[in-house]
Amino acid sequence: MAANRSSWMDDDLDALRDLARTFCEKEVAPHSARFIEQHHVDRDLWTRAGDLGLLCMSIPEQYGGGGGTFAHEAVLIEEQARIGDSAWGAPLHSGIVAHYLLEYGTDEQKERFLPRLATGEMVGAIAMTEPGTGSDLQSVTTKASRVGDEYVVNGSKTFITNGAQADLIIVVAKTDPSAGANGISLVLVEGDRPGFRRGRVLDKVGQRGQDTSELYFEDVHIPVENLLGTTEGQGFIQLMQQLPQERLILALGAVTVLETALEFTVEYTKDRHAFGKPVFAFQNTKFKLAEVATDAHISRVFIDDCVARHLRGELDIPTVAMAKWWTTERAMVALDDCLQLHGGYGYMTEYPIGRMWADARVQKIYGGTNEIMKEIIARSL
Ligand SMILES: Cc1cc2nc3c(=O)[nH]c(=O)nc-3n(C[C@H](O)[C@H](O)[C@H](O)COP(=O)(O)OP(=O)(O)OC[C@H]3O[C@@H](n4cnc5c(N)ncnc54)[C@H](O)[C@@H]3O)c2cc1C
Repeated sequence: MAANRSSWMDDDLDALRDLARTFCEKEVAPHSARFIEQHHVDRDLWTRAGDLGLLCMSIPEQYGGGGGTFAHEAVLIEEQARIGDSAWGAPLHSGIVAHYLLEYGTDEQKERFLPRLATGEMVGAIAMTEPGTGSDLQSVTTKASRVGDEYVVNGSKTFITNGAQADLIIVVAKTDPSAGANGISLVLVEGDRPGFRRGRVLDKVGQRGQDTSELYFEDVHIPVENLLGTTEGQGFIQLMQQLPQERLILALGAVTVLETALEFTVEYTKDRHAFGKPVFAFQNTKFKLAEVATDAHISRVFIDDCVARHLRGELDIPTVAMAKWWTTERAMVALDDCLQLHGGYGYMTEYPIGRMWADARVQKIYGGTNEIMKEIIARSL
């Protein structure tokens, strides 16, 4: 069955896809075993991607970006998912961190940070989650206390993607602990600030090449100019406005993984024989793969509609919550079926399906858990 070209693709994006595919196949895939062993990508992967214009593609050229749209980021996200890579935190760096700066940063902040994120000189991270709170973001305890013309940041964060390599961290902190959600601000902490310390790179079930880390802030002094934007207390609103793009990125990755798992499993089951015939020939295999193909098709139609609506500025929060929970859930069901159809080889890390299965599990958890997605949807009913 021929894959349809997504409605939001055009000739320019086709050319970008060729570049992104070559980059992922040559610069990322061959090194994945080493990334997993060292629990991070090579630092110069970022600058090599930056040299080719693959970072911050949806950031305006005046700030060093590619001057494109979310569609440009989407192409790289898909190509990265197609090679089964979960180590390189580029979607978060370009599609999330850079956009907080673009949307809310002062001119000075945009000029100071965006060009360096676009070249890969700086790696970005966003630190919301704390050991004591994840879903309930209003309960963060990290503080940014105003002292003269500085903030003093104290607290700890955990599960932070790009945490070990990040040079710029957007930290969710309370500037007014008595004001609930209205007391939350986003502050920019550079990785070389005294008092900032990185903890362990966390040992995860999947995404083992990704440097998900603990971060500690002990009397970290930052100038008031490092408050994102100009007004305190805007952090919660900023998060609520930016989380939909993060969830769209996750959903897009999940759909691509679903499609890729189907391709791998059709190929494997046609090649592998049992009881004198290809595993594909058993009715169970055909039915399972028919179900996966249906899920892949429905998910693709849904996600393409979401991307097209997002490009028009019309994607609403409940719809993207639907996309996030649905695609990550269906991807996980499909991956489990596909792994099963590989038999014991499915459980071996040398076959991509096992790694994809372990990598995908977290998608139901991060970016807002799927239970929180359903809360958001239910509120709109
Ligand atoms: C690999 C990885 C990478 C991550 N990257 C980042 C990152 O870069 N930056 C960052 O800030 N965070 C990151 N996270 C953290 C992630 O966003 C949180 O783990 C997630 O938001 C859930 O928070 P929690 O782990 O504290 O779970 P909890 O909030 O403690 O939830 C536990 C369970 O309770 C359920 N629950 C909670 N509240 C409700 C409710 N109201 N209704 C129904 N059920 C509820 C949840 O759905 C979940 O099933 C990452 C996590 C992982 C594992």
